[in-house]
Amino acid sequence: MIKFSDLALDPRVLKAVAEAGYETPTPIQAEAIPHALEGRDVLGIAQTGTGKTASFTLPMITRLGRGRARARMPRSLVLAPTRELAAQVAENFDTYAKHTKLTKALLIGGVAFGEQDKLIDRGVDVLIATPGRLLDHFERGKLLLQGVEIMVVDEADRMLDMGFIPDIERIFQLTPFTRQTLFFSATMAPEIERITKTFLSNPAKVEVARQNSTSATIEQLLYQFAPSRKDRSFTEKRAVLRALIKQEGESCTNAIIFCNRKMDVDVVAKSLKAHGFDAAPIHGDLEQSQRMKTLDAFRDGSLKFLVASDVAARGLDIPAVSHVFNFDVPSHPEDYVHRIGRTGRAGRLGKAFTIAVTADDKYLTNIQSLVKQDIPRGTLPEGALDGLEDRADRSRTDRRDGTDTKRGERRSRGRERDRDRKPKRDESMPPASMEPISQPVVAEPSQPEPTMPVIAAAEQREAREPRRDDRRERRDERGGERNDRRDRREDRNDYRRDDRRDSGVVGMGDHVPDFILRSFKISTPATEQDDADDAVAASSDA
Ligand code: AMP
Repeated sequence: MIKFSDLALDPRVLKAVAEAGYETPTPIQAEAIPHALEGRDVLGIAQTGTGKTASFTLPMITRLGRGRARARMPRSLVLAPTRELAAQVAENFDTYAKHTKLTKALLIGGVAFGEQDKLIDRGVDVLIATPGRLLDHFERGKLLLQGVEIMVVDEADRMLDMGFIPDIERIFQLTPFTRQTLFFSATMAPEIERITKTFLSNPAKVEVARQNSTSATIEQLLYQFAPSRKDRSFTEKRAVLRALIKQEGESCTNAIIFCNRKMDVDVVAKSLKAHGFDAAPIHGDLEQSQRMKTLDAFRDGSLKFLVASDVAARGLDIPAVSHVFNFDVPSHPEDYVHRIGRTGRAGRLGKAFTIAVTADDKYLTNIQSLVKQDIPRGTLPEGALDGLEDRADRSRTDRRDGTDTKRGERRSRGRERDRDRKPKRDESMPPASMEPISQPVVAEPSQPEPTMPVIAAAEQREAREPRRDDRRERRDERGGERNDRRDRREDRNDYRRDDRRDSGVVGMGDHVPDFILRSFKISTPATEQDDADDAVAASSDA
């Protein structure tokens, strides 16, 4: 078996790798590192979790060990699609380069430009960035890319997903033709293939098995039930989630709870908190500093439940996650593999529970055909849905009794009409509470469900197509990056406008009287000669 010491890496890198506790290279590392060390372009087809970050970071550090950084001209560039992934690469770099003197800067949106500018001005060996923020710095003239010797594109398929490909092409064109390119993608969509053909030169193709199969260390269970009414399924799923968490008891040390829509991420997190669970949301609409704070808290164990959207959480490397809960069945089957892969990592055992309603059948079929297995069915904890109807009635009454009754009444009347029209329960499925119970649990007396307006709004949205929000989040994430650039552009335009305002008379079109255009100065002894010159000029103009 190949060892790290066989890989001709810098001894300082080998030392750091040993300290990180790695014994042998993963397949992508064993294959990609020798090519990368030779200076060849590499096309790596691998997903997160395969050790691909080290497969480009270790040879990069080794090769950059010879040479020095120059002001504003980074020697290497790593592009990642999201801020979190870029931050994760930066952390990896810190781990592996800790015995070297190499420097790095992390350029991501949501962070002030000032500090980033200072680092770049000083000169860095490694620049890790999201594409939008990188171009932003470039357009401000703060960054020169002609010194880039090595360029890494990480998670190219997600770049495509998020609409970053034009930015990536532009960045490629700004870097020297002679650079080495290390390019990673989980899939080879036609657009990705086109890019690699255009910008990579005779790359070594390194591929690790596609992760369509789920790890044997993950126990998967599906909890499917028929909601009492379609518009109650959001509420009932939250109750099921709480019951499952309680059922897991001490064995649930921490968990990531995935929702399809970012608004629901907020609602589920708020609802869990209201029920006494230590939960916080993470999605693309939150401030970057808040996202980082939440992730750090989850990583260091001070936050137990992370409620997340796919875009914000995919690819995150948090080694010890005991449980993953799919609050929604993902509508893209690959997302199921990504989500549950957040647990059962590095040989640990993990549990992945999926909450589903009858309407999710089509998505479940796609998932099961992708992972080539049926997800075993679990039995809902006893009493998971008890008392919810009462509560629903009460919250409706509350709303009707409140001061802002008009919308509530309309909504309630609409619901009542719907209820009359629809069968009370989907008869094709037994109600969850009728299923046999394998592990009886004593349901704790439930606290009142929060009647936040935001929850009501989310319930209303629930029948909508889930993917729409996911797409929107991807767009927003991209938009965040673009906004940074737009802000700069607007700043620049304001500046130009101010400049024009100071330099002449505006607002009179072509009919500005000549005398208004003449400048007058207060005469001081020091400017007497200038004044004389002005007077001569004025008389010759007239
Ligand atoms: P990545 O695919 O780069 O996100 O890496 C996934 C996880 O594997 C990270 O937690 C790394 O620290 C870890 N890792 C990377 N290389 C190795 C290795 N050779 N042995 C053990 N763990 C590794």
